[in-house]
Amino acid sequence: MLIARYGRPVVIEAMRSALDEVRSAIVANGSSGNFTEASVFDRVASKLEQESTPSLRRVFNLTGTVLHTNLGRAPLPQEAVDAAAVVALGASNLEYDLADGKRGDRDDHIEQQICRLTGAEAATVVNNNAAAVMLVLNSLGADREVPTSRGELVEIGGSFRLPDIMACAGCRLREVGTTNRTHLRDFVEAIGPQTGLVMKVHTSNYEIVGFTATASENELAQVCKERGVPFVIDLGSGSLIDLRRYGLPHEPTPAEALAHGADLVTFSGDKLLGGPQAGIIAGRADLIARIKRNPMKRALRVDKMTIAALSAVLQLYADPDRIAERLPGLRALTRPIEDIRALALRVCPAIAAALSDVASAEPVACESQIGSGALPTFRIQSAGIAIIPLDAKARGAALLRTEAAFRALPAPVVGRVHDGAYVLDLRCLEDEAGFVAQLDQLRHTRETAA
Ligand SMILES: *Cc1c(COP(=O)(O)O)cnc(C)c1O
Repeated sequence: MLIARYGRPVVIEAMRSALDEVRSAIVANGSSGNFTEASVFDRVASKLEQESTPSLRRVFNLTGTVLHTNLGRAPLPQEAVDAAAVVALGASNLEYDLADGKRGDRDDHIEQQICRLTGAEAATVVNNNAAAVMLVLNSLGADREVPTSRGELVEIGGSFRLPDIMACAGCRLREVGTTNRTHLRDFVEAIGPQTGLVMKVHTSNYEIVGFTATASENELAQVCKERGVPFVIDLGSGSLIDLRRYGLPHEPTPAEALAHGADLVTFSGDKLLGGPQAGIIAGRADLIARIKRNPMKRALRVDKMTIAALSAVLQLYADPDRIAERLPGLRALTRPIEDIRALALRVCPAIAAALSDVASAEPVACESQIGSGALPTFRIQSAGIAIIPLDAKARGAALLRTEAAFRALPAPVVGRVHDGAYVLDLRCLEDEAGFVAQLDQLRHTRETAA
């Protein structure tokens, strides 16, 4: 049975190592102890099962950060998963023009959709937004200067630092203005024959407040146009719709940036857009053509599954009235607070029962955030469960054990520790039945750990 499931070599190897362990134990204890044939088999079976569990697995994101970079960012809608599966399972016209039977371009499958949603003339897609920024910089600014405001030299988690990306792309960063104030004249003075492009970066994950000034996009675009240098805006999250319609603060859209006169915009596919990991470059056709001729484009291109999934997601934007129910990320962000509170009341007894002897569990108010650097200081009212270990003397250690027990579930649960409690923010919990069904195993995990 094990051989049919795992293959002969793996089972033999596992049997040998289990028998070795038994032998060493016998030598150490001087007796055969309570080893039986069945107990050795059980050991082998559970070891094989453990080893065959994929490393990359589904988890429950109950951190309160909806687009959590460490937890895979935007969940895809079923339409996107189905579309990716179709092209993954067989041959497709990825780079084949079915009309004339000639070689095609993979961007053709999504360019029109992106242009329609952003107002751009042309567009291309690469592996992620970091790649998009790097490709734009290298294509338009290699060996040249790139004036950028000192207030916008961002670092995004996971080592995306604008000055470093510029260096990698072969550009010379030309810092202009100060941390809090950059004026149009700072750019005017910096632009010269050595300028490759002017870069503006959306300060996704921080805000500069107080005595501040920035050059307006319209004015900067005008200056760049007069001086004949491309004006590029890295938007980061790139929401394709105005989030104010859902009572969320506004996040700049690619359409607005292009309407302000940007020649190119770059943004992520898997942040607020709600698609697969990708970086989208949209704007002037001549610049997109230059970018596509850069040999680096080939190294940064996206897979067919990404194109299929992205296209399916962009298709959903054709119906803006239903987008918030159909895109899981946006659905979570716009989920009514009453729904989340009701969910907390429903699941709380099961959690309390599973933890009865070690911790209390009660519904609490909490705050979610968007994540992925979008609207960093904005919090959304949410509801969840606060789990408080009964062992008040060693609460810190007990909290760590609680977190570990939730992480050890078959579909691991990730919450956050806040104010002496382990809090599960339920905003992103959609599979309520799946979540509750595995809670029983919390007791089991705790007992084996104890
Ligand atoms: C997130 C972000 C990036 C990086 O995008 P990835 O898709 O994660 O590579 C670059 N610039 C800004 C402003 C961002 O917010």
